[in-house]
Amino acid sequence: MNSRKPIIIVGGGLAGCEAAWQLAKRGHGVTLREMKPGTFSPAHRSPQLAELVCSNSLRSNERTSAVGLLKEELRRLDSLVMAAADATSVPAGKALAVDRTLFSAAIEKLLLSQSGIRLVREECTEIPADSHVIIATGPLTSDPLAAAIASLVGRDALYFYDAIAPIVDAATIDLSKIFRASRYDEGEGDYLNCPLDEGQYGAFRQAVLEGRQIAARPFEDEKYFEGCLPIEILARRGTDTLRFGPMKPVGLVDPRTGSEPHAVIQLRQENREGSLYNMVGFQTKLAWPEQERIFRMIPGLEQAEFLRLGSIHRNTYIHSPMLLTDTLQLRSNPDLFFAGQITGVEGYVESTAVGLLAALFMHRIRLGTPFATPPRTTALGALLHHVSRSEGKTFQPMNVNFGLFEPLGGKVRKKDRGERYMERALTDLEDWRRRSGHTP
Ligand SMILES: Cc1cc2nc3c(=O)[nH]c(=O)nc-3n(C[C@H](O)[C@H](O)[C@H](O)COP(=O)(O)OP(=O)(O)OC[C@H]3O[C@@H](n4cnc5c(N)ncnc54)[C@H](O)[C@@H]3O)c2cc1C
Repeated sequence: MNSRKPIIIVGGGLAGCEAAWQLAKRGHGVTLREMKPGTFSPAHRSPQLAELVCSNSLRSNERTSAVGLLKEELRRLDSLVMAAADATSVPAGKALAVDRTLFSAAIEKLLLSQSGIRLVREECTEIPADSHVIIATGPLTSDPLAAAIASLVGRDALYFYDAIAPIVDAATIDLSKIFRASRYDEGEGDYLNCPLDEGQYGAFRQAVLEGRQIAARPFEDEKYFEGCLPIEILARRGTDTLRFGPMKPVGLVDPRTGSEPHAVIQLRQENREGSLYNMVGFQTKLAWPEQERIFRMIPGLEQAEFLRLGSIHRNTYIHSPMLLTDTLQLRSNPDLFFAGQITGVEGYVESTAVGLLAALFMHRIRLGTPFATPPRTTALGALLHHVSRSEGKTFQPMNVNFGLFEPLGGKVRKKDRGERYMERALTDLEDWRRRSGHTP
């Protein structure tokens, strides 16, 4: 090995355990620091490593879905988390769900049977110096460490809350019902505008008022910024409050009627390819199935597929595209890597994937041998691209979805899309592995 610096991984969650496994089986000594059971985050309950804090489902297991494809790629790279999940699965249809206690136990057993791993159960309050470090402390990173990260990256680059607006798959928007315009602009604008007449607006507001909401968790105070209020709170404030807020029609003339609609929902392009659009200002605590039902009342979105639904929850994450290299290293301190949900991915499998990538990159950087990052045609590469190359001033966490991938060339029928993404991804993954020597 070229580098003799000690390796410290902070956080024994999904990303940290995966990273420790990948490094140890490549011959590195690793110290894994986990603050439980001495200190628990407000959501963690079990003393075990790799705790699933909420659902026991790792979502779809079908390789033609983006998250199923990510699982397959992880399996091909000998992922510890996937091995444990497959070994402890419980019946869940097309999803992969696990017995969470057995799942964590399997991870702990495999990890601790691997030579080279030292588990230290102690909170990390500072960023360790003179070491190669992976920070994988997740969405509920403890306060002292969050403060240390903030002082390193700047307060503006560390977020503590997510106010997420839904994202729609552009291919599923009915363009015949909406018009393109920017507010007060003449000619073709940048936004897709869904116009609502008075009746449609009233019905939509009523549905929002009656929709089932997700209750705040005990550690989530419901103090919102006035500029970032959930739509249901705005709806409750009065008949027209939404129309004066995110559904404001002023300056948006529908070319088909020559006048401003009663209300408008604006969709803003989310990525350069134009495959994703977000619903501007539509952060919400409505339950996800309710969001799908209610948002499909909007003209033009009747058949929409939502690649991300709205939410508001506590989440510590950094502005990775600004701060990290393609290899998940902090630009201002290349000894420091970030992995897991703190990099701006969302979900168990995605966090695992970024843990695995951070370990592969650290391994190769320590060896001093050149290597390529996975292409954006793979699920791993698409996630990495989101983390390290998303554009725009704001950066919001994402689940893996096909909108993050390099678009498919040519016209592909909707029902064939998953298959095509999968075939291309698995071919390119094997090619990348061969070229860069990433053997399992
Ligand atoms: C309340 C809640 C519910 C969620 N529900 C779901 C869900 O249903 N499905 C889903 O896919 N995702 C869910 N998520 C997101 C989920 O947490 C992540 O997808 C995933 O667990 C993140 O993995 P991670 O390894 O990055 O972080 P974690 O799994 O959270 O692991 C981080 C670890 O770091 C430890 N740690 C924190 N600070 C320190 C420190 N200073 N020193 C040492 N150790 C430290 C923690 O104790 C923890 O064990 C939820 C998140 C929250 C907060």
